[in-house]
Amino acid sequence: MAINYDELKKNIHEFIKTEISEGRLEGTSDDVYAEWHEDFKTKLRIMSDNAIMRFIATQKCGIKVHTSIEPVDGAEFRKEVKIKDMSLAMKKKGIEVTARVARVDTGKTKKEKDFTTITLDDGTGSVPIKFWNEEALKYASIQKGVIVHVRGYIDDPFMDGDQFDFKVGKFGHFEVVDDSEAPELPDIKEPTIAEIKTNRPKHVDLTCKIIKKDELKETKNGKKYASFAVSDAEGEQIFVKIFDEPLANKFFKTFNVGDAILLDNFSSNVWKNLVSLQNNWDKSSVKQVTPQVALPVVEYKGKGANAIEKDLVDVKDGDNVRFVGMFTRLYATKPYYDMCPNDKCYKGVTDGFCAKCGEVEGDPIPRPRLGGTITDGETNLKFSIMGDIVETLLGINANQIKEQFDAIGEAKAFIENFADRVQGKWYRCEGSVKLDKAYRGDLDIMLNKVDEIVEFNAQTKKITEEIKESLA
Ligand SMILES: [Zn+2]
Repeated sequence: MAINYDELKKNIHEFIKTEISEGRLEGTSDDVYAEWHEDFKTKLRIMSDNAIMRFIATQKCGIKVHTSIEPVDGAEFRKEVKIKDMSLAMKKKGIEVTARVARVDTGKTKKEKDFTTITLDDGTGSVPIKFWNEEALKYASIQKGVIVHVRGYIDDPFMDGDQFDFKVGKFGHFEVVDDSEAPELPDIKEPTIAEIKTNRPKHVDLTCKIIKKDELKETKNGKKYASFAVSDAEGEQIFVKIFDEPLANKFFKTFNVGDAILLDNFSSNVWKNLVSLQNNWDKSSVKQVTPQVALPVVEYKGKGANAIEKDLVDVKDGDNVRFVGMFTRLYATKPYYDMCPNDKCYKGVTDGFCAKCGEVEGDPIPRPRLGGTITDGETNLKFSIMGDIVETLLGINANQIKEQFDAIGEAKAFIENFADRVQGKWYRCEGSVKLDKAYRGDLDIMLNKVDEIVEFNAQTKKITEEIKESLA
């Protein structure tokens, strides 16, 4: 779905004008407004309109905008949705879900407030729904496996990202469906790692094998945490982190590489498009699986453990994928940008100013970049590559890239010098897929690993030469 940015800007403009005219933005001048507007413009392309509104309200104006559902009458509720289709796009709309209760977790907050989290699963995915106080007590004894019908809505408690809350609210309901009326729903089953990476459920039980175990590490706050990688029956792998110190210690002492374990009540976590598993506060546990189930022995794939093997035709926004691909074309764009010299900033610098740090001391650093199209033999996809992978691909370092480009001064001519080196060759690739919102909304894959398949390319070259010779 395309976003009309002009319309959005107009809305924000109107919003702020109203806030000012009604005296809610005391001391705000046109200058301040103009400055904000510049700031929003850069954010417009990555945030939902609701998130922008809230950003303005909370960060800039110090006021709270209520974004919870408007009272809607029953007729306006959406029809049944499948859990896999639930998304922030349905925000503030009423929806209905029929699903099995996959899990019931009860507890108290530090302030002694009762809560019950009921994880629903309809066979397409899972979603938690949380109840507080009297409702928490009311639903605490609900049985795992029963089918419930929920009329609720999707709320967006976060500034950004695709996380959402599913709530019942004043106008909804949460009812156990009578057996005679219950639709056919699959029994609750464990997801595979591939399904976890694709569906990103908030609740995960997983029987798996430990394939890598790190020494205990420490967070910035000095708390011990465990990190390890596991694989499942299909041989897919995923990283796991346990931030609950007692559980981390217990895991580290009890389990080793090769052990089959049950990760009980973990949660999938997405950071920079990498899906990993993490403990759910202190509600998670790691259990011995006895007898040890037969799971394949697979080799730990390093950073790629969190990527999923996929054909390019199947990739979608947010995926982290592994595939074998051939570069079909390099775009004639400037092969580097001026990067902020501050550690781990990576932002661009224009006229001595960084978008994040402001005025910077020292010279900007050339950061190589490359874009084009890649194919897995069936589907073409746009790619981008940044940093040292570009250096490896082109065979020269960042400073040489800058020097050579600056000497030529023209992107097309520069890129042509490297076309033969890169184009038409096959590589083992990993990368994260994103919707390129700034450019037509196409999918773009940011490659973070590109290993040439040397032998394969040598053979391809040999065969190509033989064909050419035979034709000559
Ligand atoms: Zn910076």
